[in-house]
Amino acid sequence: MAAISLRGVKKRYNAKTFVVHGVDAEIEAGEFVVILGPSGCGKSTLLRMIAGLEEISDGEIAIGGKVVNKLEPRERGCAMVFQNYALYPHMTVKQNIGYALKVAKVARPEREARVMKVAHSVGLEPYLDRRPGELSGGQRQRVAMARAMVREPKVFLFDEPFSNLDAKLRVAMRAEVRRLHRDLGVTSVFVTHDQIEAMTLADRLIIMNAGNVEQIGKPTEVYNKPASRFVADFIGSPAMNLFEGEFDAEGVFVYGQGGRMSVPQLNGVRAPGRKVVLGVRPESVRRTGPDAQGSIPAVVDYIEELGASRLIHAEANGSRIVAVDTESSEISTGMPVHFSVDNDALHVFSAENGRRITH
Ligand code: ADP
Repeated sequence: MAAISLRGVKKRYNAKTFVVHGVDAEIEAGEFVVILGPSGCGKSTLLRMIAGLEEISDGEIAIGGKVVNKLEPRERGCAMVFQNYALYPHMTVKQNIGYALKVAKVARPEREARVMKVAHSVGLEPYLDRRPGELSGGQRQRVAMARAMVREPKVFLFDEPFSNLDAKLRVAMRAEVRRLHRDLGVTSVFVTHDQIEAMTLADRLIIMNAGNVEQIGKPTEVYNKPASRFVADFIGSPAMNLFEGEFDAEGVFVYGQGGRMSVPQLNGVRAPGRKVVLGVRPESVRRTGPDAQGSIPAVVDYIEELGASRLIHAEANGSRIVAVDTESSEISTGMPVHFSVDNDALHVFSAENGRRITH
């Protein structure tokens, strides 16, 4: 296993447009890091630069303390697992797994032993003589992982490996990847646009947006202290409620079409006329009575029944609001309700640049 350093890493595909604007990140040896962001934000490009499949336009990448900018992919000690695993269709599972070792002229007895060991660890022993066409999607993905593992790399790079699998299989494969990581301890970088996948897999996340890093942190850190409005909106399901507005002369927050929210605890940021975005997670929004102090009047739009709880989607003075509701009392579409938000749970972001404002 090896640490990975990214220092000022940039990429442009043509003279003008940078698609990665300068990434700085330190990935520790043995860590499982997930690069997360919407489609087109530069995740795969960054991963492919680590692998050596794309040249970097500026900056430096080091693996295990050694700068690899000029090294060929095969000299970097990385093994990559793709979404399109491109197994050799005419070879058996065993031959597919062992192919890289054969090319590297590893002697047959050692090759056999290594193939059997990884086949055992990913549960492929019963399928060694089958061809890829005779396997399910999940089994094929396992062959792709086994093929990467057999090379005993210093680093695993995963590029959206599970996006072709159905939801249930994805959950199972996630658990498998986590277990393999625990057993092997190999530094892993995993790219996905799926925030739930990212949150469940990662020791730490690198969250990207339009070629920039928005935040690097543990799943709990990015959830509890999102560094920007973008991260606040991207992490968490249902998404955080965001209210755009400004403070009036009395320090009351005015949002949407004349909505008023009393936020006594935001003392440090309540300058009259200051424009901010206030965020609150749906689980911190509660139903309350109309007379409760600082309550927010709203009208129910629709209700999502989840079994143990339900989500109330409502409209509050021109702003959307979603609340996790655990009460059993009657509620229906079109009904007027009142919400209260826990002041401790408020997140404040700059209206200008979207960065978090501490309070
Ligand atoms: P992601 O993995 O986050 O979906 P990518 O890293 O694949 O995003 O792409 C980032 C941006 O770079 C996108 O706007 C994409 O269109 C552009 N891009 C990717 N590959 C190339 C290429 N070979 N030539 C030109 N532009 C590219």
